[in-house]
Amino acid sequence: MEEERKLNFLEEIIEDDLKSGRVKSILTRFPPEPNGYLHLGHAKSLCINFGLAMKYGGKTNLRYDDTNPVKEDTEYVDAIKEDIQWLGFQWDKELYASDYFDQLYIWAEQLIERGLAYVDDQSQEEISKGRGTVETPGTPSPWRDRSPEENLRLFREMRDGKYADGAKVLRAKIDMAHPNMFFRDPILYRIKHASHHRTGDKWCIYPMYDYTHGQCDSIEHITHSICTLEFDVHRPLYDWFIQTLGIFPSHQYEFARLNLTYTLMSKRKLLELVQKGLVSGWDDPRMPTLCGVRRRGYTAEALKMFCDKIGVSKRDQMMDIQLLEWCVRQDLNARSNRYMVVQDPLKLTITNWPAGQVEWFDCPLNPAEPEGASRKVPFTGELWIERADFMEDAPKKFFRLRPGGEVRLKYTYIIQCDEVVKDAEGNIVELKCSYDPASKPGAGEWRSVKGTIHWVSRPHAKELELRNYDRLFTLADMGAVPEGHDYKEYLNPDSLVVARGLAEPALLDDASGIAVQFERTAYYIKDKDSSAEHPVFNRTASLKDSYKPE
Ligand code: ATP
Ligand code: MG
Repeated sequence: MEEERKLNFLEEIIEDDLKSGRVKSILTRFPPEPNGYLHLGHAKSLCINFGLAMKYGGKTNLRYDDTNPVKEDTEYVDAIKEDIQWLGFQWDKELYASDYFDQLYIWAEQLIERGLAYVDDQSQEEISKGRGTVETPGTPSPWRDRSPEENLRLFREMRDGKYADGAKVLRAKIDMAHPNMFFRDPILYRIKHASHHRTGDKWCIYPMYDYTHGQCDSIEHITHSICTLEFDVHRPLYDWFIQTLGIFPSHQYEFARLNLTYTLMSKRKLLELVQKGLVSGWDDPRMPTLCGVRRRGYTAEALKMFCDKIGVSKRDQMMDIQLLEWCVRQDLNARSNRYMVVQDPLKLTITNWPAGQVEWFDCPLNPAEPEGASRKVPFTGELWIERADFMEDAPKKFFRLRPGGEVRLKYTYIIQCDEVVKDAEGNIVELKCSYDPASKPGAGEWRSVKGTIHWVSRPHAKELELRNYDRLFTLADMGAVPEGHDYKEYLNPDSLVVARGLAEPALLDDASGIAVQFERTAYYIKDKDSSAEHPVFNRTASLKDSYKPE
C-alpha cells in the first residue's frame, strides 16, 4: 500500500484550482537558461514541474530562457535535453523565449504608444543610482517624459542597430517611488550587438528576464509557473505585465531552492571550475551536474527518490548530502549486480588444491534474487584476497582470517590459514592455506564459520583502474565561505584517489548499464574512458555508512 502523504503547498493550490474551475488542466514549464549544464538543483525543479503535471494529468513544456546571447550556446541546449530525458521526463513542446521575440517587440511598441515605456539614454550606473534605495524614492530619468512618438522612433532605431551597446535602453514607465524596487521603471530591452544561437543577427536588442518570462508563460497558457523563492519579489511585476497587456493570466508560485552540504550549484562557479581545469569537465564525476553524477553512477531513480524525500517547501534550507548518498545506496542495493574485486591484494595459495584445476561457481548477480541471473566465477588454488581481511595479531572480535583461523571464501569453501610467508623485511607476502572439500555450499551439511571474505582467482584476475571519488569540497556550507576567502580554497585535495583493482572476469561483461557492487566494499560504474585493455571504474558510493534518514 502506498504511504499516505500530506499534500504539499503546490498540490493544494492545484487541487483548489481544479476544483474551483480556475483551470481545466495543468500546464507547467521548465525554463533553463542554456548557459551551463543542469545540476542537482535543477533536478528538484524538474521533479516538481514534471511531477505535478504528471500527477494531475497535465503537461510540461521545455522552454529555454535564451534572452542573453552572450552566454548561451547550443552545446548546452542539447545537453539539457539529454539530462531531462535521462531523468525519465518527457516534455510536451520544446520552445524558446526567442520564439517570442517578435511578439515581445510588438507588445513593447504598444506600451510605448500607451505612454507606459520610454527610451532612456542614461548609463547603467546612472540608472542604478536613480533607482534610489528601499528607504528613499528614486529620481526620474531626464528622458522619462519623451513623447510616445519620439520613443517609438528611438526604439525602432535601437532595433535597427543605430546605437552602440549600452547607449540606450527601453524602460517601463511605472513608479520611481514604488516600495517594490522592481517597479521603479524596470528595463525592458537593452542593446547587444551579439549573434544569438537561434535568431542569429536578426536582433541587436534583447528583452530582459522580467519582461520576458511572464509573457512567455502567458503565450503558452502556462497555468502554474513554478520557480525558486528568490523570484517572489518579481511576482508583482510578472502580474503587472500580464494585466497591463491583458493577456492569459498565468500565475507564478515559488518554492525553496535546493541547497546541499559540501556542494556548489551556481552555474557561474561550476563554469569556472571547468575553465580553470580544476575538474576534468562538466561531467567530472565530482561535479553536482546531472551529467557528472550520472558518470559517477548515481541513478535517475535515486535522484527522484531524493527529491521526493526532501519534498517541496517555502523556506530555504540546507539538505544533507548524505541523504542523497543514502538514496543512491538504497537504489543500487536493490538493483545492482554483484562482483568480487580486490583492491589491496594479498597472495593466498591453497596447498591442497589440485594443481591447475579450475572450478567454476555459479553465483547470483543479486543476492536478493538467489534464483535470478548468475555469473560464473572461477576458483583455483591461487587467489588474491584483500590485505585488510588478514591480521596476524588479531583481536578477539576480528572474524576474518588469522593464523590458524578459518574463514569462508565467498560462495565457495572454508579455508584455514596454515602459514604466513614473509619477505626479508618482515612484510607478509603470502598466506598458505588448506581448504575443506566438504564445506562446499550445497554439498552436504552446511558448516558455518564467523567470517566470509571476497577473493579473486589470480590466473583469471582482470586489472582495473579505480577512480575513487570523494566530495569535491571540504566546507559543509559552501554558501558561507568566510569573507576574504575564495570558494576554491575549499576544494578537497583527496577528492580523487586512483587505485588498482583485480576483478573476477565476469565484471567486464556486465551489461546492466548501471553501477555494480564490488562485494563488501563499494558501488562502481564503468567509465567512458575505459577500453578493452584498460577498464576504468568510478566509485559511486561506498557500501556502508552510518547515516540513517530521520
Ligand atoms: P544558477 O543560479 O545555478 O545559474 P539558474 O536559476 O540561473 O541557476 P536556470 O537555468 O535559470 O538556472 O534554472 C532553470 C530552473 O531551475 C529555474 O526555474 C530555477 O529556478 C530552477 N533552479 C535553479 N537552481 C535551482 C536549485 N538550486 N534548486 C531548485 N531549483 C533550481
Ligand atoms: Mg536563471
